[in-house]
Amino acid sequence: MVKLAPLFISVVYEMGESRKVFIIGLGREGMALARFLAQRGATITVSDLKTREELAERIEGLSGFLIRFELGGHPQSLLDADVIYVSPGVPQDIPLLVEARKRGISTSSETRLFFSLCPAPIIGITGSSGKTTTATLVGQIVERAGRHTWVGGNIGSPLIEFVEEIRPEAIVVTELSSFQLENLDRSPHIACVLNITPNHLDRHKTMEAYRAAKLNILRYQGRNDYAILNRDDPATHALLPECQGRTLLFSRLEEVEGGAFIREGRIIVRWAGEKEVCERGDIRLLGDHNLENVLAACAISAAAGAPTEAMAEVCTTFAGVEHRLELVREVAGVSYYNDSIATSPGRAIAALRSFDQPIVLLAGGRGKGLPFKELAELIVQKVRYLILFGEEARAIEEAVREAGKRAGVAETPLIKDLGDLEEAVNLAAQVGQPGDVVLLSPACTSFDLYGDFAERGEHFKDLVGKLKDG
Ligand code: ADP
Repeated sequence: MVKLAPLFISVVYEMGESRKVFIIGLGREGMALARFLAQRGATITVSDLKTREELAERIEGLSGFLIRFELGGHPQSLLDADVIYVSPGVPQDIPLLVEARKRGISTSSETRLFFSLCPAPIIGITGSSGKTTTATLVGQIVERAGRHTWVGGNIGSPLIEFVEEIRPEAIVVTELSSFQLENLDRSPHIACVLNITPNHLDRHKTMEAYRAAKLNILRYQGRNDYAILNRDDPATHALLPECQGRTLLFSRLEEVEGGAFIREGRIIVRWAGEKEVCERGDIRLLGDHNLENVLAACAISAAAGAPTEAMAEVCTTFAGVEHRLELVREVAGVSYYNDSIATSPGRAIAALRSFDQPIVLLAGGRGKGLPFKELAELIVQKVRYLILFGEEARAIEEAVREAGKRAGVAETPLIKDLGDLEEAVNLAAQVGQPGDVVLLSPACTSFDLYGDFAERGEHFKDLVGKLKDG
């Protein structure tokens, strides 16, 4: 306990000099927080809409700690807490939180607590798409540059678990979702916004609210901090006037004054001098969207002081993160790609644009209320066979037929609406021809049929693994 004293003081400070804590949401972060705070003597109540039976495994994971559980709802009695930690999955406008704010109870989060306690500089990466890929690239680059590196946040484990092991000379790379940014009171030392496109509007309601959440990554920066923005995405570039510190840009399309860009097929970093990283063609990741992620990673790493050699080594060897345009296998001359992470139409568009080969596309699942029009237009241009499954199958089919009519093409791609992924993969195996790409890029969430996108991706890989070659 003696060893924990300084940290404990900060925690008590963060909690408003009190120790009556209420945690809403028993997900990954809620679990990590409950453990962290319970070990430091806080009186903890955890509440979740799910029932004790549904959460049995998680509750078991907290056995040994003195924690009160209020499950199957959030009773108003919880409002006698001194601080409420809100999990990223919980909307900020639920009645309980509205009431809590009225009563002046402070709210916090795992990310906010971590930011207040972390002794090392933090690199924060947000955006509608590309966060995990970019954060992974940056983590590898700064590690190769010789810094002791911690990567976490929305990927890997909640970082609060390691906060005591992190030394001031280390560097932390965090992937930050818009939900994790919602309740911050400080910004990372190096902050990157990759892009801002409609996503999670079911939760944030308007683009303005979504943008405001993203802006928190820059809002509390000072003059010695760094902001890295996408020159090619107008909504992101428009954040430039909000930057308080030094700014780097990255662009696929034009040279930038400070940051990373392409010149004559080469990736160039211009920051404290100008240096070539590698040839564009030597990058292993597929697609223009990944080129943007690579450029972002180079600009971020440059701000962190990494040399271009480290950038080059990583960018020419890194083949991608699981479930993101992941080559599963080749069967009978057909390449099967798992892009289960593509839970929005925009992501499926990025995937379709990454291939020149004929595509058999597997799409569907639960919609997020986003329009399929633009995706449908690209499907008409690029997809040879569209295999649909899940709740949104009909809506996607309609959008594609409409797009076909608008484009005046005699035939939209062949479309088949099937019950589940297994049938979809089996049909893909029948209709795929040598040289084709079979792509699972669903444009929808997985929640109608699976626990999450990873489960859907695993199922796909399992099914593809069982296909008979020849
Ligand atoms: P995130 O962590 O933001 O979910 P990922 O790196 O996991 O992003 O990539 C998820 C998917 O998003 C990819 O498979 C691709 O379809 C799409 N994507 C990735 N990077 C970009 C980008 N820079 N611009 C547009 N779409 C992207």
